[in-house]
Formats: sequence, C-alpha cells, structure tokens
Amino acid sequence: MPHSAHEATEHTAKLRTLPSVDRVLAEPALTDMLDRLSRSDVTEAVRRAISGARDALIADRAAPTDSAELARIAAQSLRSLVRPSLRPVINATGVVIHTNLGRAPVSEATELAMARAASGYSNLEYDLDSGTRGTRAGHLESLLCAVSGAQAGIAVNNNAAALYFALNAFCAGREVIVSRGQAVEIGGGFRIPDVLRQSGARLVEVGTTNRTAAQDYADAVSEDTAAILRVHSSNFRIVGFTEEPSLAELRRVADEADALLIDDLGSGCLLDTRHFGLSYEPRPQDSVAAGADLVLFSGDKLLGGPQAGLIVGRSETVDPLRHHPLMRALRLDKSAIAGLAATLHHYVVGEAVETVPVWRMIAADVDELDARARAWRDALGAGEIEPAESPIGGGSLPAETRPTRVLGLAHPHPTEAARLLRQHEPPVIARVEHGRLLLDPRTVLPGEDGCVIEALRDVIGAPP
Ligand SMILES: *Cc1c(COP(=O)(O)O)cnc(C)c1O
Repeated sequence: MPHSAHEATEHTAKLRTLPSVDRVLAEPALTDMLDRLSRSDVTEAVRRAISGARDALIADRAAPTDSAELARIAAQSLRSLVRPSLRPVINATGVVIHTNLGRAPVSEATELAMARAASGYSNLEYDLDSGTRGTRAGHLESLLCAVSGAQAGIAVNNNAAALYFALNAFCAGREVIVSRGQAVEIGGGFRIPDVLRQSGARLVEVGTTNRTAAQDYADAVSEDTAAILRVHSSNFRIVGFTEEPSLAELRRVADEADALLIDDLGSGCLLDTRHFGLSYEPRPQDSVAAGADLVLFSGDKLLGGPQAGLIVGRSETVDPLRHHPLMRALRLDKSAIAGLAATLHHYVVGEAVETVPVWRMIAADVDELDARARAWRDALGAGEIEPAESPIGGGSLPAETRPTRVLGLAHPHPTEAARLLRQHEPPVIARVEHGRLLLDPRTVLPGEDGCVIEALRDVIGAPP
C-alpha cells in the first residue's frame, strides 16, 4: 500500500524509465552469458527481469530500473544453465558424514564402478550364461550375506524406503510394538510414527522415553501383533537412568508372540567402532546373530557407499520382498548397485579401513591431521593450529567425536569470510566458532589441500 500519494507517483513514474531489452542485453554483465548461451535464452531472461521490475513498480513496490542492475538479475537467473546447481564442495567442517553435503564420499573403485555402470551397457538384468533375463538383486546378495552373516539380503533406494517396505509388506493392518524412546524423528522430518502410519501398520508404544523393559513389550502383545520394531537412536542419546532390552530378549518376546523382530540400525556400521576410540555402534552382523528377522541400514552412512537401503535377514522374511509389488517402486538404479557392490567388496576382502573414505577419515590420527593443518598455515602464512573435535555426524554415533587439529583463523567478519569461502570455486565449507573460522583437515579429501589454501588466500589474503 502506498504510504502517500507522493510515493505512489514516484514508483509508477519510474515505469517510464525502464530500459529496453536491447539496452540491458548490451550491459557487460551479460557478455559472458551471450558467449555461452543462445541469444534467445539470454533475451528471455532479460525480458523476465524487466517484466518482474515492471510488475513490482505497478504494485507500488521498489524495483531496479537501472539497466546494469537488471542485467545482473538476468545473469543471476541464467547461472544454473551455465553451471550445474549440484556441484562438488570441499568439506572442511570435520563432520565425516555430513547429510547436507551428500553423506559418504565413495572410494575410487566405487566411483569407477558407478561411472562405468552409468556410461555403458551392463548385465543389470541379464544372465550371461543362459542369455536370458537375470535379476538385478543377484548382484548384491552374496556380498550382503558375506558382510552381515545373513541368509538373504536385498537393496532398495534408501533406509527410509527399507523401513516403509518392511512395515508395509509384513505389518499393514496389524500392530507394531515400539518403545516410546524409539518413536522418534530421525531427521529431515522422518518420524517413525509417521512412517508406521503411512505403511498401514498400527503403532503400539510401550515403556517410557528413558526406560522400556522386555516385559513392557510382552504385555503389549495381542492377536494383532505383527512385529516388534527396534529403532537405533542414531542422532541423539538419552543418558542417565535408562533401560532398553537387548535384541536377544526382544527375540524371545517376538517368538512368544509369533511376531517378526525388525531392527532399524540406521548407520550400517560393519566395523568395530571401539577400535577407533569411539563407543560401540551396533553392527548389522550383531543384529543378525542376535536373531533379528530383518535388519535395515543405510548405504551412505558408516557403510561409506552410495545412497541405498539394505535389508538383510532370514530367507523366509527377505524372499517375499523380492516379489512384492513395491520392490519395483523402491529398487536401486544400476549405478548405485555397481557402487554398493564395489564398496561391500572392500569389506569382504578386509581393506575397508584403508580404502573406504569415511573409515580412512575416522581412522586418521592427530599427528597426520596436525601435519596437514600446519602445512595449510605455513602456505597461508596465517592462523593457528588448535586442538578440536571432529563429529562423526549423519545420524551415526551421536555425541561421538574424534580428536583433531584445525587451522583457526581470526577474522573481523568470520561469517562473511565463511560466505566468501562458499562462493569460491570449488566452494569450501568451514565452521565458524567463537568468532573464528575453523578448518578441519579430517574431511578434506587427499588432493584437495591445494584448493583449500587457494580459497583461503583469496578470501583471507596473504599477510603483508
Ligand atoms: C538415517 C536413518 C534412517 C533413514 O535412512 P536413509 O538412508 O537416510 O533413508 C532410518 N532409520 C535410522 C535409525 C536412521 O539412522
């Protein structure tokens, strides 16, 4: 609404000063775009910028009428056409499994397998012996069984899909018993009670937020009980006066109730985290050994592979899923299958710690990180080496960190400096803490150190 008649005339009067399309096209801000894109695409963007300004002025809102400014607006709207929106970034936050930054970076062998599967034909659903139709699931099954000790295994799009699938296939219209402490939100709005409802299963909550006993589950069993679901609390920890029955105890209750025992582990951690100075993270092979019928986990958390949801367990419970109509909707694409097979292979041959990037990062020791942080500081001629902690992150090992050394940089405007680092090519993502920029070498991939130094030089500048 106009504040006064005077302001209204001022905005509408500006309408006449809007430049022509040709004048905006002649601005230097668009020269680069005209070189790289068709004239009609750039002209269209200029028209949109001018008409956006016109609409604003008519609605009595302030808008640019300057041709250089309109050219900048048009150029901005064309950026995604000349540069992909999804781009590699350098993770200097130290958060190993950073969901916003794409979770696990994969091994070289995995990357190659994924690129190969994508760029050529493959025997995705083709039996090379018989020359007839084969199965997509066959490429992963023996690997999944080898790493987990399960009788059978399949892969779907992600762990959220795996959970939905298991509940829909076996529990729709029936009851699923879940501890109150586990009816939680995993992150990104993914809430266990909502998934249960969507799957058609009825949630029966037992126990309390901090304590649930095996007897609580047993007391809740009814004719309608289809499953007991255990959900690993991946992104939070309840400490103090707590109790949770073991899987073995839950197995006994499930047997009594003739119900399935489903274990949603989340992170898919196949190695013993205690060897890395971390607390114990439950492993799929332990859940299989404890008698869970279905064990569910992600491919791109501590497994360190591409996005996937893995379902392993007894043949009796896994096999019906293969032929379930939802399998087609939730299935993995060929690149993910190829990548997952390559990643699982690292575990099967016992080379995961050396080759799977998330484990290499977790295993990196302080001396190694200290040397890298020092090299950054020496190249930059600024900053200080400080002790800090790298969080594991990504819904794995809540509150767990590994000691690290970071390069700390004092800056009068640290938030602005962090923004400039993000604008760099490639973008560098740093932490800002106590008014300083912190860069953690743990999550900076080998070969990226030079880029980090270059970005820091541009943004911080070399000291005099
Ligand atoms: C992360 C997580 C999920 C969701 O897995 P996505 O692979 O992200 O779909 C489900 N359950 C648990 C316990 C998790 O930690």
